[in-house]
Amino acid sequence: MIPITIFEGQKIAVFGLGGSGLATLKALAAGGAELFAYDDKEASRDKAAEIERVEICDLKAADWSQFAALVLAPGVPLTHPEPHWSVRMAKDAGVEVIGDIELFCRQRRASGIDSPFIAITGTNGKSTTTALITHLLSEAGLDVQMGGNIGTPVLALEPLAPDRIYVIEVSSYQIDLAPTIDPSIGVLMNISADHLDRHGDLMNYARIKSRLVTASDLAVVALDDRLSANVASNLRLKGHAVVTVSGFGNERAMIAAPDGVLQSMEGDFLFNLDQARALRGTHNAQNAAAAIAVARQLDLPPAALTHGLKSFGGLEHRMEEVGATAGMLFINDSKATNADATSRALASFHRIHWILGGLAKAGGITTLVDYFDRIEHAYLIGEAATEFAETLAKHGVAFSHCSHMDVALDHAVKACSERAIVEDKADRVILLSPACASFDQFPNFMKRGDIFREAVQHYLQTGSVAVDPAHLETGGLANEEQ
Ligand code: ADP
Repeated sequence: MIPITIFEGQKIAVFGLGGSGLATLKALAAGGAELFAYDDKEASRDKAAEIERVEICDLKAADWSQFAALVLAPGVPLTHPEPHWSVRMAKDAGVEVIGDIELFCRQRRASGIDSPFIAITGTNGKSTTTALITHLLSEAGLDVQMGGNIGTPVLALEPLAPDRIYVIEVSSYQIDLAPTIDPSIGVLMNISADHLDRHGDLMNYARIKSRLVTASDLAVVALDDRLSANVASNLRLKGHAVVTVSGFGNERAMIAAPDGVLQSMEGDFLFNLDQARALRGTHNAQNAAAAIAVARQLDLPPAALTHGLKSFGGLEHRMEEVGATAGMLFINDSKATNADATSRALASFHRIHWILGGLAKAGGITTLVDYFDRIEHAYLIGEAATEFAETLAKHGVAFSHCSHMDVALDHAVKACSERAIVEDKADRVILLSPACASFDQFPNFMKRGDIFREAVQHYLQTGSVAVDPAHLETGGLANEEQ
C-alpha cells in the first residue's frame, strides 16, 4: 500500500467503496487522515467500517465545510449525465473533488519524485499496452508496479521507492478526477467515441484524454486517428517532448509498423510482429509501438525489447486464443465492448463466425460494414439483436438470433463442422467480439469471456456445447435468417 500522508490530520470524505475506494481509505488512514465514508451498498460500507480511522457517515447529512476533499470513485458521475449528489454538495461547500490517481500524483510529488510514473490512456488498447510495458520492463529486471484501471488499484501498490517504476492504466473517468496528473511518460493510444454518456461529447472526451499527455514530461502519442494526431501536433507546436508511434507504416511516426514489421525511424530497432503470437493485428502493432517507445526511453537495449515482445503472453478476453480443433480457432474478445475494438478483431481474421450483441453503444455496428465480407455467419445475443439484425440484413450478412452465448456457440460449431465436411477447408474462426457492453446478460465482460472460454473447453473435451434448456426456450435456433 502507498500511505498518503499529504492529508495527515485532515478530514476527508470518500464516496464509492469498491476496490479502489477501500484501497484509498487504507492509504489515507495509514497517512493519518480522518475519514468519513459512504456507499449505497451495505456490504461495501461494512467492509470500510473495519478500516481504522474510518467512520461510516451519512454524507448527505454531513457538515461539508469540515472536509479538505471529497475522494470519489471513478464510476460515480462527476459531470454527466449529471453530477452525483456528493459532487454537488462538495462543490457547494467549496470542497475539491478528486480521485485515487490524484492522491498518488500528489504523494509522489511530496515524497516519491524518484519513482518514474508511466501513465497510459486511450479509448482502446490501454490494458494491453500497460501489461506489455510492465512485461518488457520487469523481464529486463527493473522494479515495476502495475495497476490503476487494470488489476490492482494504484494506492494498493507497493510504496513509493527510488527507481521503482509505476506503470498505471488511467481511464478517462480517472483523468477527470486527477486535475494535477503529471506522469514522467504519458501515453495516448487513440481516441474514438466511447463513454460519451459520462463526458458529454467527443470533444470533451478528447480534451480529458489529452490532458494526460499534455501534463507529462514526455508524451508518447499514436498517430493513427485524427484526434490523437492533432494532440501530437499541438504538443509539438508548444515545444513539448513527443515520441510519435503508429501501428501502420506511417512515415511521420518515430516508431511504426509497416507490414507488421516494428521499426524505429533511426533504424536501430527492427522486429517482425509475426514472432509475437499475442500481438496479432494492426491494433496490437500500435500497442507494441507505444510500449517499445516507452521502453526505449528507459534505455532498454534492443535484445531486451525483442525478448519481451516474443515472450508476452497477452491478456485474457482480448483476442485471447481459447482453443483450437481441426478447422476451428476459438477467440475470446469479450473485452471488445464497442465497435471500434471489434473492428480490430474482424480485421485480424477471415472466414469468421461472429458471436456479437449485448447492450449496444451509439451507432451500433454500422461502422463495421467494411469487414462484413469476412463474416460467414453472425450469431446474435442479447438486447442489441434486433438492431444488429437490421444492419446485417441490409448488407446481406447471414445471421441467426441465438439470444444466449451457449446457444450461439452451439450453433456456430455445428455450422463450422458441417461446412468443413462439405468443403474440406479447415480454417474458420469462431470469434466472440460483441461490440457491446455485457450488462444485459452478464455481470461484466470478464464473466462473459469466462463463460465463453468454459463453453469452448467443454466442447473441445466432450464434442458438444452444454446448452441451458432455459436458453433454448427463449432462444431461436430455428430463427435463421439471411
Ligand atoms: P482497454 O484497456 O483500453 O479497454 P484493451 O487492451 O483491454 O484496451 O483492449 C480492449 C479491446 O480493444 C480488445 O477487444 C482489443 O482487441 C481491442 N484493442 C486492443 N488494442 C487496441 C488498439 N490499440 N486500438 C483499437 N483496439 C484495440
